[in-house]
Amino acid sequence: MIYTLARGHERGDLESPQPFRFCYLANGEVEIIDVTRTAQDWAALVPMCNSIADLIEGKLPSWPLRYDGWKCSDDWCPNWAACRGKYLGVGSKPANW
Ligand code: SF4
Repeated sequence: MIYTLARGHERGDLESPQPFRFCYLANGEVEIIDVTRTAQDWAALVPMCNSIADLIEGKLPSWPLRYDGWKCSDDWCPNWAACRGKYLGVGSKPANW
């Protein structure tokens, strides 16, 4: 969503929907997902960013762990063994992979 907002700023057009093509590798195959983001999507970023600012301002000793991110696996997260991997095992894959 951030990329489409940046593109809207670059074009000086924050009213028109902006397309974005997301390309990634899945099991050695190129996958493509085309999405379109609108002014409503960008407006929805404001409360999300405000909630992140609240977290920062809260000066918490740690932030909530996020198990739903793409990098939450032994393949991608360098902290896996000290975090989720302590329970699921080093070298294991989360069930959602
Ligand atoms: S294993 Fe890594 S990505 Fe997953 S919650 Fe822990 S620090 Fe975050």
